[in-house]
Amino acid sequence: MLLMTCHPASMKEELRDLETQISELRLRQAVIVNELDKINTAGADGHRSMPDWVSSWLDVDHAGASELVSAARLIGKYRPINFRLAEGQITFDRALATMRLAEAGADPATVRHSESLDLAGVRRLTARQRRVGRGDERAVAADRFVSVQPTLDESAYRISGLLPGTDGRLFERALYERADEMRRLPGGDITTRGQRQADALVAMAMDSHDRDRNGDGPSPGSQVSVFVDLDQANGTGGESGCAIQYGPRVGPDTLEELLCTGSVQVIGLSEGKPIVTSGSIGVIPPAVRRFVAHRDGGCTIGGCTSRYRLEPHHIVPRSQGGTHEPENLTTLCWFHHHVAIHRHGFRIDPDSPPSRRRLTRVPAGPDPPRRT
Ligand SMILES: [Zn+2]
Ligand SMILES: [Zn+2]
Repeated sequence: MLLMTCHPASMKEELRDLETQISELRLRQAVIVNELDKINTAGADGHRSMPDWVSSWLDVDHAGASELVSAARLIGKYRPINFRLAEGQITFDRALATMRLAEAGADPATVRHSESLDLAGVRRLTARQRRVGRGDERAVAADRFVSVQPTLDESAYRISGLLPGTDGRLFERALYERADEMRRLPGGDITTRGQRQADALVAMAMDSHDRDRNGDGPSPGSQVSVFVDLDQANGTGGESGCAIQYGPRVGPDTLEELLCTGSVQVIGLSEGKPIVTSGSIGVIPPAVRRFVAHRDGGCTIGGCTSRYRLEPHHIVPRSQGGTHEPENLTTLCWFHHHVAIHRHGFRIDPDSPPSRRRLTRVPAGPDPPRRT
């Protein structure tokens, strides 16, 4: 019996059986959501929309919740399709795609033809059928959202959302254009399109955040406090990770970057109590910042002509005893500073000429033992 289930053919069969069961359960959920929707459960529970309510009540992501509500609202209208779903002849996703095609105004022949297409094909067919009415536009506008959610340990954020067509196109274009400005990493390493788009989004956010920054470093009051657990740090300056006050958990790469941008106060903790405070450790004196910017005139990486968000960088990192002396500082564009050095682990080769700097890759090394 055990051997049977380990056989690829039977595992493939089992996988399909399970999908049929999941589809049946989803149908039952959709029927219930349909009933709850009719009595305005979302409004009664203080939620803005039914997808919001489902997402919160079931603790599922917004995209999945939207799919379920969308199916629930179509379910009573297309009984033959749902009969086939209930009989296990088609999956939940197939039923939903077919209902959407019918809803978009496709005639019965087109709906039958869609059975020979894969799901992406059905969606394309639906998009071609669709006449967007005022009601449709308002429905999409009402469902628009962007969700920015930290992961459980707050070391990363997940972003998802839904934008009306023209807004989405505008955003897509702006992101693509910005991503195209992001260049290749040194040594010909290629960043993925997804990575470049992530960098582009961060660059857009930074521009918006710093609209009235005057180039002299962080504005007064924007200093962040970083708590480093000295009991865990093994004397290596935050190698075990640390937490920004009221903010995300960061690792040594980000801490080094924060120390470069000069807006950090580091507070050492032992047994949960602050024992060392850095005072103004992170701040590069404004006069030194201006001198270094004037001396370098632009990004010092050989061949780089970018003038985007020029920032001073510590050649020997602060965590390794590097100082704010001009000799230890070099001007870098945002891509070389933020992306290449502080995200991809490159370091300035200290033997490279001051106005034609080279980058070398430093391996990440082993992570510290995880706290339980
Ligand atoms: Zn730096
Ligand atoms: Zn550069």
